[in-house]
Amino acid sequence: MSLLPADSCFFPRRLGQLCLLACLLALSSAGYGDDMCGDTGVWLQILGAGGPEIDDGQGGPSYLIWQDGKARALIDTGPGASVAFDRAGANFEDLEVIAFTHLHADHTADFVSLIKGSYFLDRTAPLVVLGPDSNTPQYPDTESFVQRLIGPDGAYAYLQDFLTHKSSGGYRIRPRNVPAAGKRRWENFSSANLKLDAIPVNHANVPTLAWRVEVDGMSIVITGDFNNQKNVMATFAKQADALVASHAIAEIARGHQRELHATPSQLGRIAHQADVRMLILSHRMNRTRGRESQTRGHIEKSYNGYILFANDMECWGM
Ligand SMILES: [Zn+2]
Repeated sequence: MSLLPADSCFFPRRLGQLCLLACLLALSSAGYGDDMCGDTGVWLQILGAGGPEIDDGQGGPSYLIWQDGKARALIDTGPGASVAFDRAGANFEDLEVIAFTHLHADHTADFVSLIKGSYFLDRTAPLVVLGPDSNTPQYPDTESFVQRLIGPDGAYAYLQDFLTHKSSGGYRIRPRNVPAAGKRRWENFSSANLKLDAIPVNHANVPTLAWRVEVDGMSIVITGDFNNQKNVMATFAKQADALVASHAIAEIARGHQRELHATPSQLGRIAHQADVRMLILSHRMNRTRGRESQTRGHIEKSYNGYILFANDMECWGM
């Protein structure tokens, strides 16, 4: 079980309930089943706070958004997401949408595990799967990605009923490509419970999106992996309650790492310009661990809001 950072217990508004929950969890570190969000309100749960490494003790990137005790949206499904989803007590039948920031393995590897696991549930409602379009042969678009996994010619063709719906029963997966080039904001998903917007971001040559989830007046922005070259994040994240940023490199990083990821000082400037209520640093990697105080210092040069270093299973009330 992961514990919340001690300094998280100074947050205003509903974060008071978060702190109470954190303290209760700290007192009962029994393991599975302890990492629960509140029954009411909007909560962000970190299913995986790590990156692609297998020696960091953390799951791959995956973020679950709760509304009044129901898991509504899942952003990315990195390694370990299906186990974390189970540990979180989430019900897959409540889930309306899975959205990918990009199709790197560390952000998508557990997608099939979740879909296969859902076979044993009574879900009937369609599941929308959103992710980047692609104009590069190195990466499939999201619809092709899902087809290549569970389509009739896919690696897991035995799961094709989720797409073809030829057999009776079950539910249907509806993959949709979202433009990952240009600067235009995509605003084509909404339901009675939530709204999702996306904007293309620059992650070297990888088609990548940032996502903004609006639920009951709260907004959570997940940057995906990005280097801020397009300089769109501050506008996209404007006044968000939480900005969940990939913190994959240290300030001292040079060269290719900076083509892939934003530095702490860049994240600080974005959080300041966007005027977000809290900046949650996730996608933490070994090259950033042990440097938290320096990272915080670089961010605080621009941003004076709440800075949180995420760990698996932590749940933040909005
Ligand atoms: Zn990544």
